[in-house]
Amino acid sequence: MEVGFYFSISTFIIIGIITIIFCLKQRVDNIETKIYGQILVITLLGIFLEIGTCIWYRLGVNLNNNIYQYACKLTASYYMIWSSLFVNYLISITNAKKGFKRGFNIINIICFALIMILPIYYNRTDTGVIPGGPSIILTYSVCFVYAIIDAVITIKYRKTITRAKFTPVYSLLCLGGLDIVIGIFFPQLFLIGYIYSLIVIIMYFTIENPDVRLVQQLNAAKNQAEKANRAKTDFLSSMSHEIRTPLNAIVGLSEDNLEYKDKCPPEVIENSNDIVSASQTLLEIVGNILDINKIEANKMELVNNPYNFVEEITQMCKVTETRIGDKPIKFNLSFAPDIPYELNGDKGKVKEIVNNILSNAIKYTNEGEVNLYFKCINNIEKKDCILIITCQDTGIGIKAEQIDRLFNKFDRLDVEKNTTTEGTGLGLAITKRLVGMMGGKINVQSQYGKGSIFMIQIHQEISKMEAPTVDTNITQTYEEKDFGHKRILVVDDNKLNIKVARKSLSAFNFEIDECYDGVECLNKINSGEHYDLILMDIMMPNMNGEVALSELKKIPGFSIPIIALTADAIAGSQEKYISDGFTDYIAKPFNRDQIKSKLDRIFR
Ligand code: ADP
Repeated sequence: MEVGFYFSISTFIIIGIITIIFCLKQRVDNIETKIYGQILVITLLGIFLEIGTCIWYRLGVNLNNNIYQYACKLTASYYMIWSSLFVNYLISITNAKKGFKRGFNIINIICFALIMILPIYYNRTDTGVIPGGPSIILTYSVCFVYAIIDAVITIKYRKTITRAKFTPVYSLLCLGGLDIVIGIFFPQLFLIGYIYSLIVIIMYFTIENPDVRLVQQLNAAKNQAEKANRAKTDFLSSMSHEIRTPLNAIVGLSEDNLEYKDKCPPEVIENSNDIVSASQTLLEIVGNILDINKIEANKMELVNNPYNFVEEITQMCKVTETRIGDKPIKFNLSFAPDIPYELNGDKGKVKEIVNNILSNAIKYTNEGEVNLYFKCINNIEKKDCILIITCQDTGIGIKAEQIDRLFNKFDRLDVEKNTTTEGTGLGLAITKRLVGMMGGKINVQSQYGKGSIFMIQIHQEISKMEAPTVDTNITQTYEEKDFGHKRILVVDDNKLNIKVARKSLSAFNFEIDECYDGVECLNKINSGEHYDLILMDIMMPNMNGEVALSELKKIPGFSIPIIALTADAIAGSQEKYISDGFTDYIAKPFNRDQIKSKLDRIFR
């Protein structure tokens, strides 16, 4: 009795704490947690009654006292109600509703009334008092029936109970059995209340833990979001591909129209120029959306290779400079003599950074100057350098209070003034992220109405230091080169694209052959046709470009260079195709200069 009393007190405290935590914790409302809540409350009340009757007994109550007897009967009812709630719990976790209808309420009410009415007797022993008599016998009998129902449900529905939830169920069955055995030999050890409390504690750890449920819900939401994001990326890639394919024909054929300057009315030439320029803007928008998407999905990686910085930037500026059009702007490009001959870095992304700030300077300047200047702080010992890019313009400038918004996605400043300037508000957001990837920083100084200076610092490795003298005078004249009647095979399922490729290549005196998928290309090579170069589209029916490449490489002695010609132009595609084994890569739409520079590299 003495030990049992203190045991009841400590159990009461533990169950009390569990009840408080259970009530305070955010939880998912389902039948299981609802029944568990009821079990907790009943257990607390039951232990409270146990403790109360114990204290009263120790204070020397007359065992015939009516109120004391009712208190003992109420404690007995607690065992019965607890047992029936546990059956309910078992039904809820096994989904055993069909076989076992929940609805012990009527039985419980009848039994409760009987327990209260039937007499209770007490057997005094050395260690305390043992309640007995019809009321207690009825309680035990009902509890026993519920235990049998528990056993039947457990056996019948064992496959639907998860492993964790077996623990309280089996604990109850085992401890219940143990209680009966102990009860036979030591009837004064009244253990049933402790067993129930122990089960309640075990159940707390095995009921569908609200936090676990929340984590599961979060995981499900995360998976859903990832799925949606993948769908978005796939959509953007295919959208880019679909837009680029017809753009290839638009750019190619408009450029070709310019070849007939002498035969066409000036309006046609002007329109063709405008078509080329609008296509380039559209292309840039598609490229920017793809890039920001890739950066935000953390899929943008730096691919470092040696490159001639001055040459690459000079080439790029020749194209970007044409955006000045007929605005009275003087463009000055200069390189400090300390720039290493060859840097090691991600050429494509460095050029994208420079192109973005230079295009902006040209776009947002109506007259005056745009100066682009490069210098390097070299650490020759470490083969490392800090490349400093400065782009200064005499343009519209940026209001001081708007500078912070400059790098926000889709944020365009001074919109009223800029309505006629094309843009998406993505260029600088991408630039800042690319600069960040290269461990660099970007600074802006601007005076509204006067002009802006963008200064960028990025890290690059030095590949070769030797500094050749470079002619930075940009010339607009491109001499057409004769590649000496070399044979080129164009493989593309889109006939319009073949027409564009033919027109782009026609200026260089090539002999051009065509076919429409990988299988036809293989047949031509296997039948002994000789070519100096193959331009291979990637997405084609029957056999795509990548499979065709690997089949061609299996042919003994095959050594024809193959350029991937594709509208799949997400950043990183070039590296992918080259690592797949293509000699080079041209993104559609391409212009004559791009194709010429690739041909120059291959044939000279
Ligand atoms: P976009 O040019 O496509 O609108 P950007 O991200 O490149 O997007 O630039 C964001 C905004 O910053 C532009 O809309 C423009 O208002 C402002 N901006 C960028 N560069 C300059 C500049 N050199 N001079 C004045 N304003 C600029």
